[in-house]
Amino acid sequence: MLNGAELVERGEEQWDSARAAWNLAVDQRPAKVARPGDADEVAAVVRYARENGLRVAVQAAGHSAGALAGVGEDTLLLKTARMTEAEIDAENRRALVGAGAKWQDVSALASPQGLSGLSGSSAEVGVVGYTLGGGHGWLARQHGLACNSVVGAEVVTADGQLLRADRENEPDLFWALRGGGGNFGVVTALEFELYPVPEVYAGMFAWPWERTSDVLHAWREWVSGLPNEMGTWARVLQVPPLPFIPEPVRGRQLVVVEAAYLGSEESGGELLRPLRDLSPELGTFAAVPPAALGHVHMDPEDPVPFAMSGQLLDELPPAAIDSIVEAAGPDSGSMLLSLELRQLGGAQTTAPPDAGALASLDQAFLTLGVGMVMGPDMAPAINAQLDAVCSALEPWDSGVKYANFVDVPTDTSTFYPSETFDRLQEVKARYDPEDLFRANHPIPCSTAAG
Ligand SMILES: Cc1cc2nc3c(=O)[nH]c(=O)nc-3n(C[C@H](O)[C@H](O)[C@H](O)COP(=O)(O)OP(=O)(O)OC[C@H]3O[C@@H](n4cnc5c(N)ncnc54)[C@H](O)[C@@H]3O)c2cc1C
Repeated sequence: MLNGAELVERGEEQWDSARAAWNLAVDQRPAKVARPGDADEVAAVVRYARENGLRVAVQAAGHSAGALAGVGEDTLLLKTARMTEAEIDAENRRALVGAGAKWQDVSALASPQGLSGLSGSSAEVGVVGYTLGGGHGWLARQHGLACNSVVGAEVVTADGQLLRADRENEPDLFWALRGGGGNFGVVTALEFELYPVPEVYAGMFAWPWERTSDVLHAWREWVSGLPNEMGTWARVLQVPPLPFIPEPVRGRQLVVVEAAYLGSEESGGELLRPLRDLSPELGTFAAVPPAALGHVHMDPEDPVPFAMSGQLLDELPPAAIDSIVEAAGPDSGSMLLSLELRQLGGAQTTAPPDAGALASLDQAFLTLGVGMVMGPDMAPAINAQLDAVCSALEPWDSGVKYANFVDVPTDTSTFYPSETFDRLQEVKARYDPEDLFRANHPIPCSTAAG
């Protein structure tokens, strides 16, 4: 124990479970693992690491452990999994969560009150890691990126101090946290806005993957006239025959269109008519409470071994759909679990006043390829296929990366405009001049400011 924080060392019985990441393909071998239960314990762990010459990698469950690339002996892994507290103030539409809260901890409280945060595809993902990286979810066309709905954060910085960062206090730190990731300290609590969502008309249509080309072309045409109330993603899916997967899709190869509509069942059904006219084999659309959005995409609930990569596309002409079909559709030889396309646009395109470091995603589409890496032998083949998809879509690639969909060590300057990256480096130099914190996507200290 370390001032109340659990400290797990090599050789202890809990060592393997303590160091494990949600992405089972990543083998993390840190010097020690600390599991604090509150902000004071976090501060004690940070001071302990510094005094012992260790860096600190903060992790909730480790959904982004691939980008962290296996922490080693110079690093203390600070796991926030004990800090899952969540509360909401329904009247003022605010949520306050601890460092280790998952989206399901928020939706369990907010959904019965007709409220929703700006969560993504999975109820299991950590609220803090997701939000610090930007946070693109179902409601982004209507309400923007999750990072720009943050109103304040409690942060333990490299000197072991607990600070409040919001518009009035530590405004540069507050700006940097909203899209600049976990580079500046340990966020021990995050406060953010909720939105009125009494119900959402959501679900998916699925067709056998032999129809990939006509369905994706039809989806591409369909999205051009949609209101911002409609969020929609399409994907080519090769579902493994695993027990946690719902029966109708288990072990199938499919082309799928998913959507979430902030409006009535009647108008949502009308908007979806062009897709329904393509006679899907499966359809699950229904008016559901907002908590159901964490399950529409059928993400796994338990840890899995995977690799993934994404691109931000400036446009999606018919030739891009043809390239996707060739790279990941029938006859491609693809082993990817999923290759998805998310329509961007709407509120996330424009920087809100006083936005954070990730002010907007102003490209037209976001892609995400995912492959299951069932053993180390599979990694080269899956990575080669992810690379092949990226090359196939290169003509429409914006050259900008979206942090949350990058899961390998990458040059983080490709995530931001150059003036934003410069300012992030300055904030890093001010709050963490010795580069104590090892984030999944590192921002180096600016030499000018340091
Ligand atoms: C199944 C799945 C579905 C996903 N769906 C979406 C989606 O729809 N939209 C989207 O935008 N992204 C999505 N992602 C990506 C996800 O948002 C990123 O992987 C994100 O980093 C996960 O955060 P985490 O805390 O769960 O992961 P972790 O790996 O635990 O943390 C990721 C990083 O966040 C930082 N961090 C975490 N907690 C703290 C803290 N308390 N203080 C400071 N820094 C911290 C650290 O730098 C850490 O390396 C998905 C990922 C998976 C695996």
